[in-house]
Amino acid sequence: MARPLRRHRLRAKLARRTTQHAAAARWMSATIVEGGRVDRRPPEGGLVNGGGCMWRMSGELRRTREREREREREREREICKKNWEKKYPFIKKASTFSSSPPASSSSSSKSSGSDKAYDYIIVGGGTAGCPLATTLSQNFSVLLLERGGVPFGNINVSYLQNFHLSLADTSPKSASQFFISTDGVINSRARVLGGGTSINAGFYTRASSRDVRKAGWDAKLVNESFPWIENQIVHPPNIAPWQKAVRDSLLDIGVSPYNGFTYDHLYGTKVGGTIFDHSGHRHTAAELLASANPDKLDVLIRATVQKIVFDTAGKKPRAVGVIFKDENGNQHQAYIARRRGSEIIVTSGAIGSPQLLLLSGIGPKSDLKKLNISVVLDNEFVGKGMADNPLNCVFIPTNTPVVQSLIQTVGITKMGVYIEASSGFGQSQDSIHCNHGIVSAEIGQLSTIPPKQRTQEAIQAYTRSKKDLPHEAFKGGFILEKVARPISRGQLNLINTHVDDNPAVTFNYFAHPYDVSRCVDGIRMVEKVVTAKHFTNFTGHRDKQTMEKLLNMSVTANVNFIPKHTNDTESLEQFCKDTVVTIWHYHGGCNVGKVVSPEYKVLGVHRLRVIDGSTFSESPGTNPQATVMMLGRYMGVKILRERLGRSAGI
Ligand SMILES: Cc1cc2nc3c(=O)[nH]c(=O)nc-3n(C[C@H](O)[C@H](O)[C@H](O)COP(=O)(O)OP(=O)(O)OC[C@H]3O[C@@H](n4cnc5c(N)ncnc54)[C@H](O)[C@@H]3O)c2cc1C
Repeated sequence: MARPLRRHRLRAKLARRTTQHAAAARWMSATIVEGGRVDRRPPEGGLVNGGGCMWRMSGELRRTREREREREREREREICKKNWEKKYPFIKKASTFSSSPPASSSSSSKSSGSDKAYDYIIVGGGTAGCPLATTLSQNFSVLLLERGGVPFGNINVSYLQNFHLSLADTSPKSASQFFISTDGVINSRARVLGGGTSINAGFYTRASSRDVRKAGWDAKLVNESFPWIENQIVHPPNIAPWQKAVRDSLLDIGVSPYNGFTYDHLYGTKVGGTIFDHSGHRHTAAELLASANPDKLDVLIRATVQKIVFDTAGKKPRAVGVIFKDENGNQHQAYIARRRGSEIIVTSGAIGSPQLLLLSGIGPKSDLKKLNISVVLDNEFVGKGMADNPLNCVFIPTNTPVVQSLIQTVGITKMGVYIEASSGFGQSQDSIHCNHGIVSAEIGQLSTIPPKQRTQEAIQAYTRSKKDLPHEAFKGGFILEKVARPISRGQLNLINTHVDDNPAVTFNYFAHPYDVSRCVDGIRMVEKVVTAKHFTNFTGHRDKQTMEKLLNMSVTANVNFIPKHTNDTESLEQFCKDTVVTIWHYHGGCNVGKVVSPEYKVLGVHRLRVIDGSTFSESPGTNPQATVMMLGRYMGVKILRERLGRSAGI
């Protein structure tokens, strides 16, 4: 049982207070933001607390700097647009796809009709798909199909300080596609070349050796594959003051030893890598395509695969091609070569991959029949075993603005929880006050009201009130507590047969009591961090009520569609359940042993694999992107070695 905190009936009253509005708005810029740019320049608000020195910038100077910065970015955008087409000549719009054989198809043969045939068709140019396509292209012809556009020159994607903007952009061309799980938790999935690496918070940290053993991966090849990624797109961080305070406080409370800066997963406290460079510029898995063999790779953007085509004449169905639509809505077909070894590899992510298998007729027979989908293979496990690591955040306001930071520090505890942090919302006034859409502060205060009772007028009134908040209100940061390896499981079901629509996804957060008890332990640990010497020195919060007040604020600051309870701050169990958000590490749906073999081959059919986060039964490491990219490279090398032996030269 959670230790009851002194009853605070303040919540309803507080909900009317500006401080709470500010908290929700701050959360917006952070939980959705999950951090910010490590920017040595003063934030727009003017007050800077760096290295103990505090000073105020004049409004005029601030505006001049802001204009300069904007001009600088505009120039960068222009150069970037010109450059990426030169650097990646094989990336084309889907509508350019023609049925004449590609110049690059020397190792390809033709399949049915006059359509060109590839050795590999990879569906999804994401975190796993890009390194996989790059690697396979060394020796074979590859077609990589990505439903989104390029990340290059996209200002929302490229700059850390705009992290929240791509998540909040709900337009059809946004780099992210938002969805709300049936649990009532707001979530996002990538829709852009580079996948999750183009919209995520950038923290880079490897799988544990336990993860590697459990997956049955070849440790030597794993240890060769991680550096292949790291040497191209990963950086050590500039550690922000907030991150230092959390790091030192984790050590104060015994999350030790201190393992320094390392990519490795080690018990204790560490600083990890990041895909943002020192100027806050994002590097994505799409950049790994620069190492591809340009003569053997075709990448199509805005190419949405609608279904996989099977030849069902033999004993086992055999994947032969895909049907995709281009940016104008026109349909195309692409085929793999008839030669032995040619495959379609689905790398569409934990939502996209099970969705595509279902749309293609692989899944629970009764569910498919309900939607009139012809059954290719009855497999009850497709879309099952989905999980999302619950995240609960404690908001800590500060008296002065703090430097923006992403996740840089992590406490890897032996209790099955990871402690991370984000801080600082020094975004431009526009960024704070702009219409973030439903995925953000618009819903802030209203999260305490059951979803059906939230009116458009109420949402608009809240938006207006947010606009009046002074920039100085956006001060503070979060300590995040993630439950590792949740036992609670959920599922994914199609709602219709439109590939662009999100399926219904349920994660059943905290359905298992062990997940709840770990969350409670995690919140207690956060309490210790907040009251530890290094942290109180940093924030100046020393009074005894602090944690109760912080939890009160955090109830509102964690925005979801889960109705709140009056005992949210009395019972940490209730706090965990009511304030759960996502850290976007959802996984499963095509689990190894259930949907795919340990070699990631789809069970029961030929020539089809799934290689991405949908195959994980546990999210690896403290944060998964490093391992997902590693897996793309790893499987590429494995496949080349299996097909070519030593002559693969890799
Ligand atoms: C907002 C956010 C923050 C995160 N922060 C971190 C972090 O700081 N550190 C970390 O380690 N992890 C983080 N993650 C998690 C990590 O980014 C993901 O786990 C990882 O990127 C998933 O990789 P994937 O290859 O499985 O899927 P994705 O990278 O999502 O790739 C799937 C790709 O397939 C495409 N696709 C889907 N369906 C189709 C189709 N039908 N046709 C064509 N293309 C299709 C998608 O557009 C996408 O590009 C974060 C994730 C998000 C969303």
